[in-house]
Amino acid sequence: MRALITGGAGFVGSWLARELLARGTDVLVLDDLSTGRYENLEEIEDGRRLELVVDTVNDPAIVNECVKRVDQVFHLASAVGVRLIIEQPVRTIESIVGGTDVVLRACARYRRPVLITSTSEVYGKGSKIPFSEEDDRIMGATTKRRWSYACAKALDEFLALAHWYESRLPVVIARMFNTVGPRQTGQYGMVVPTFVRQALRNQPVTVYGDGQQSRCFGHVQDIVGGLADLLACPGARGEIVNLGNNQEVTIRELAERVCQLAGSSSEVVLIPYDQAYGEGFDDMRRRVPDLSKAGRLIGYQPRRQLDAILEDVIDFERRQLGDAKRNP
Ligand code: UDP
Repeated sequence: MRALITGGAGFVGSWLARELLARGTDVLVLDDLSTGRYENLEEIEDGRRLELVVDTVNDPAIVNECVKRVDQVFHLASAVGVRLIIEQPVRTIESIVGGTDVVLRACARYRRPVLITSTSEVYGKGSKIPFSEEDDRIMGATTKRRWSYACAKALDEFLALAHWYESRLPVVIARMFNTVGPRQTGQYGMVVPTFVRQALRNQPVTVYGDGQQSRCFGHVQDIVGGLADLLACPGARGEIVNLGNNQEVTIRELAERVCQLAGSSSEVVLIPYDQAYGEGFDDMRRRVPDLSKAGRLIGYQPRRQLDAILEDVIDFERRQLGDAKRNP
């Protein structure tokens, strides 16, 4: 058995590669290394069970070639991170909608089962707690660039479901909630690696807005286990399924917890949104997943809770910092 992972050199993709290899599945990675990094795969690449193709998911000839060689496809390649999305909206929209179209066409051509990764952003500004898969979506104005990501991902979902409806192409859609763990880069604005790095350097920990907005953070290992189980589950075909963790924390509490666990003397500072992101930004107040469908379909239950997740990231970042000091 061999699986293609588009975006397999990224943070989630490389953890998924590990997971599949551990389950006995060989892995072909297609990644243009724009935000993905070769180092993410280095320690598992042995040249036999894992192969890396450095190219774009927007090229139909390349994608056809890759899809033809595998038994199943995990499509993770995407623009990531709120900061990148706001700064590069053209790339965001084109890579998400264009890339998914190319991948779905190739999967339809060779009849390969495919998992499309989507995001909790598609729920938008809804205030219902928790979010379940059939809920209505509430999007902000199109002048707020952030929402281009949610709309592009929603279009991916429509397209995948359309393939399922018209030709019964085996598709499953995973809506991932905030996913964190070792090797996630803070470069594109993700809050946990950013706070951990600030805390370990005893720099101010930058909470945006009033810090009362909340999120639920899932450990990447729980999430990739769910991704692998979903594509293996016949009952999940044609379905949309939330994956994440439902333990809620405000961003202010998160900042304080990170400082405590890291033994940091950093102070927590509040930064207004327009200073943090410029104009074109709209935040979500709360975001909690309803995980009952994932539980029903694949017995999904997040195993790692917030403190364990933060400790894992702190350990990793501490080692990185040590390495950087030893080899400046
Ligand atoms: N955030 C913050 N400080 C940072 C980065 C992010 O307070 O340095 C906030 C951000 O405004 C949001 C939350 O943390 O309310 C989660 O942000 P992230 O970009 O990680 O993910 P999102 O859930 O917004 O996609």
